[in-house]
Amino acid sequence: MSIVPPAYIGRFAPSPSGPLHFGSLIAAVGSYLQAKSQHGQWLVRMEDIDTPRMLPDMDSAILRTLEQFGLQWDGVVLYQSQRLARYRDMFSQLQQQQLIYACQCSRKQISAMGGTYDNRCGALQLTADNLAWRLRSNNVNTQFSDLVFGAQQISTPLAQEDYIIKRRDGLFAYQLVVVVDDIDQGITEVIRGADLLPMTPRQQALCSLLGAPVPRYGHLPLAVLQPGFKLSKQNHAAAISQWPVAEVMYKVLCFLGHPPPLELKHAAVAEQLSWATACWQLSRVPRQMEISSTEFR
Ligand code: GLU
Repeated sequence: MSIVPPAYIGRFAPSPSGPLHFGSLIAAVGSYLQAKSQHGQWLVRMEDIDTPRMLPDMDSAILRTLEQFGLQWDGVVLYQSQRLARYRDMFSQLQQQQLIYACQCSRKQISAMGGTYDNRCGALQLTADNLAWRLRSNNVNTQFSDLVFGAQQISTPLAQEDYIIKRRDGLFAYQLVVVVDDIDQGITEVIRGADLLPMTPRQQALCSLLGAPVPRYGHLPLAVLQPGFKLSKQNHAAAISQWPVAEVMYKVLCFLGHPPPLELKHAAVAEQLSWATACWQLSRVPRQMEISSTEFR
């Protein structure tokens, strides 16, 4: 009996803490093209778990911008804020397996350790209410193969650090919920910005701990204003909904190593996207962690 591999399911997972900017549009378009070029599904998930950072109505603003750029998602949009019961279950499962522990260290103490937590609470069995919870890293594998950047080696301190999956304020952390969501949505491949590349081995390891198949991962170059300064909400990148749509799409495709023919420069985004879907190859995406891009800031 032959085993049929699961159909392609990809995703774009914005945090509604600010509008889409040129940098986040790159992740949206790259993940969309990778899914559509393989006749796969492209899901959108609102990563709104960090409630204090979320802005009202930003989710709908992001969805409208995706539509404006012709990026129509499949199925319904998943909201992390509606999945707390599921995260609680996964947390209890890890707790029963004694894979997590409570930690009392403050940020100040961790900076005094040199910025990387040294796992000192791992042996303490602390029980108070307002503590963070960390997953024992058990020396996560430091290597993985990235679909864009090839063989990767993550620094040992990062791989050895027991990391937070539930915060001191009671909120579940990105590192836990992203994995639970990818599992529940049946994601087969994660295409996202290169800022998350170092987190990949952790996420792969957690996925295996939770007994699920591990997706493939590929990372896209980051748009930066200058080395080390990614175009981001924190750097007040401009909302792209204000820019001429066709021109921005043309730039995004150039950025991703797929410059459309000049006659498509001012063509409707649907036309540009269908051209790009037909010729999309991840191997054409530049293997550069950062690309300077000051035009749409
Ligand atoms: N929500 C994250 C962000 O907006 C992306 C997480 C992911 O793709 O794994 O940067």
